[in-house]
Formats: sequence, C-alpha cells, structure tokens
Amino acid sequence: MKNNILIIGGGPAGLEASGILVKMGYNVILVEKEKQLGGHLAKWDTLFPDGLKAEDLLKAMIKKTGGVKYFTDTQVQSVNILNKSYNVILSNGITVLADAVLLATGFDLFKAEKKEEYGYGVYEGVITNADLEQYFKGNFSIKKPKAVGFVHCVGSRDEKACNPACSKVCCATAVKQACHIKEKFPQADVFCFYMDLRMFGRHYEDLYLKAQKMGIRFIRGRVSEVAETSEGRLLVKAEDTLSSKPIKVTLDTLVLMAGMRPSESGYQVGHQLNLSVEEDGFFSTKDTMLSLQKSNLEGLFFAGAATGPKTLPDTLHEARSAAMEIDNYITETFNKR
Ligand SMILES: Cc1cc2nc3c(=O)[nH]c(=O)nc-3n(C[C@H](O)[C@H](O)[C@H](O)COP(=O)(O)OP(=O)(O)OC[C@H]3O[C@@H](n4cnc5c(N)ncnc54)[C@H](O)[C@@H]3O)c2cc1C
Ligand code: SF4
Repeated sequence: MKNNILIIGGGPAGLEASGILVKMGYNVILVEKEKQLGGHLAKWDTLFPDGLKAEDLLKAMIKKTGGVKYFTDTQVQSVNILNKSYNVILSNGITVLADAVLLATGFDLFKAEKKEEYGYGVYEGVITNADLEQYFKGNFSIKKPKAVGFVHCVGSRDEKACNPACSKVCCATAVKQACHIKEKFPQADVFCFYMDLRMFGRHYEDLYLKAQKMGIRFIRGRVSEVAETSEGRLLVKAEDTLSSKPIKVTLDTLVLMAGMRPSESGYQVGHQLNLSVEEDGFFSTKDTMLSLQKSNLEGLFFAGAATGPKTLPDTLHEARSAAMEIDNYITETFNKR
C-alpha cells in the first residue's frame, strides 16, 4: 500500500515537493487554504532576476503535479500524532492519516499600515510592492506618474516593527519593480530609498547596474515623513545619509517594500503540534546546517518560506530536499523500498 504524505500549503514549496513525491510513488494529499493554488507566486507579474513570467512558472509547476489529490479552500482543523502517523482533520470533514507531513505554509506580507508615517491606506498614491505587482498584472490602473519612489525595509530591519531581520527578497524586488516602472514611464523620475542594497544572488548585481543605467536614483536614507500636497501629490521627506543632507521630493506614487513575516495560519497548525519557532516567529529547523528540512518532530518536515524569508530558487531547492528527506524517512521508518 502507498504511504500517505500530507502537504500543507499549495504555494511554490508545496507544489514542487508534491510533484516530486507523487512521481516517487507516494499518495500525496495537498491542502491549500485559498481557492487557488500558487501561493504568493500567483500574485506576482514578472520575476527577478531575469524577468520570467510568474504565470508561466506556476503553470509549469502545476503541470508536474498530476496524480496529487488537491483540496483547495480547505484548512487543517485539527492535527495530532497517532503512533508513527499524523491524524489530520480537514475543514471539509475529511480525515487524513499521514505517514509524513510537509509544512509549506509560507509567509504573510508585513501589514504596511502599521508604519503610520508612510500613510498606507490614508493616501491613494501610497501602495505596497504586492499592490504594484497587481498593477503590472493589469488588475488596476494608475495615473501616468511624473515621479515614483520606493521605500526599502518596510517592516524589516526595524526594531520599532519588532523585526530586526532582513527579508532578503525586497531589495531585488524594488530594483526589478523600479526598472519596470521606468520602462513603462521613461519620462518619470524614479527614486529608491534604501539602507543597504542586498543584491546577493546571481545576476542581481546586473539588475542593479541596469537600473543605474536607466537613471534610477538610489538614495541612502530612511523616509521620515509622507504628507499630501494641495494638488494631491505626495511630499516625501528623507535624509540622504551619504551627504548628511535632508531631502524633500514630490512624488505621485510611493511604493512600500513590505517584508516577509511568519504566516499566521501556518503558526496555528504548528501551535497544535507544539512546533518551536525562532525569535522572528518563523519555524525552527532541527539544526541550522544538516537538517534544514526537518522539524523537532519525527515525520514532520518544512520547505520554503515557512522557516524564513527566501527567494523562489531557494524555496524550490528546499522543496526538492524535503521530498528526498521524506522519502528517506519513510524508507527507514516503514521499511519500504
Ligand atoms: C513582493 C514580493 C515579490 C517577490 N518577487 C520574487 C521574484 O521576483 N523572484 C523570486 O525569486 N522571489 C520573489 N519573491 C519571493 C517568493 O514570493 C517566495 O520565495 C515564495 O512565494 C515562497 O514560496 P512558499 O511556497 O514557501 O510560500 P507562499 O508563496 O507564501 O505559499 C504558501 C502557501 O501556503 C498556504 N497556507 C498557509 N497556511 C496554510 C494552512 N494553514 N493551510 C493550508 N494552506 C496554507 C498559503 O495560502 C499559500 O498558498 C517575492 C516576494 C515578495 C514579497
Ligand atoms: S532585502 Fe533589502 S529592502 Fe528587504 S529588508 Fe533586506 S535590506 Fe531591507
């Protein structure tokens, strides 16, 4: 009889792992709380570093999951350990007895309205990185802008927001989005307000050089205040920490690079199993070197942003490692092969 593997979360990590596990011959059940599969990837337009269409990547990933049993719009209602298995009751009334569980519950975007000084939800011109992706996907329109600004580190590297950690993906996202805006509106002035530019991955530096060549201005300093002018534009105050001078710019759109925070619904599942979390709220892995996909519970594994901010290539690598770890675990525990 095939072993049951339950995957919680149908984002990039859950989809990639489920496609591999089903090919290995497991009975894979995937539970996604939203109506659609794809997680955050389904909300993005094009991807750094090379402009791949998110939609195309998602289609390719879903194509590899033939044979996986999906339950969308479904949550985990309760989960407990029964001998060597996990007894999971789903919100659709179905009970799954799983020999291994993969928690791929991803992340939540930082709630930008918590940083009141930026005026998200107050001024129409202030939007988030996620909103801008929706604009690029054609889901809403903006007036042709004369000037656009990007604020890095919104809710990340910020003690006041109770998150001193870096979200890793938002510098590259800001540069990707700034280039896209400049391509759409070549006449617009585009500014990036940053603390440090963390362009660490392969080809990321090329993206930064491209942005500089396009005339995007990088200003090292935090935005301190945003106010609306009488013409309905945004007056943005910041300090240029390289020249130690205060600066003021008037913009039409200000994009807040909201960071990655632990998933609340992922936490609710983990809480039922007493899974440990780090100070930043993301799940703890068994160790920090050799067992990155393992949890402190036998038979329960992680992949993707459930254990911290990650890019898509990192997420997909983790999903593949998790599939391998699950296969090893089943072989050792249930004497299969
Ligand atoms: C604005 C922005 C732009 C980005 N652009 C890029 C880019 O261009 N290139 C790149 O490499 N990376 C990019 N990233 C990073 C990328 O989005 C992540 O690497 C990726 O989404 C992580 O995948 P995941 O499956 O771990 O998590 P998620 O995408 O968050 O998916 C998790 C899934 O689990 C589901 N879920 C959560 N809890 C439960 C539950 N209890 N029960 C059932 N389902 C549940 C969620 O609904 C979701 O579908 C970007 C990130 C941001 C914030
Ligand atoms: S990746 Fe860049 S914008 Fe995001 S938190 Fe780190 S330094 Fe700030």
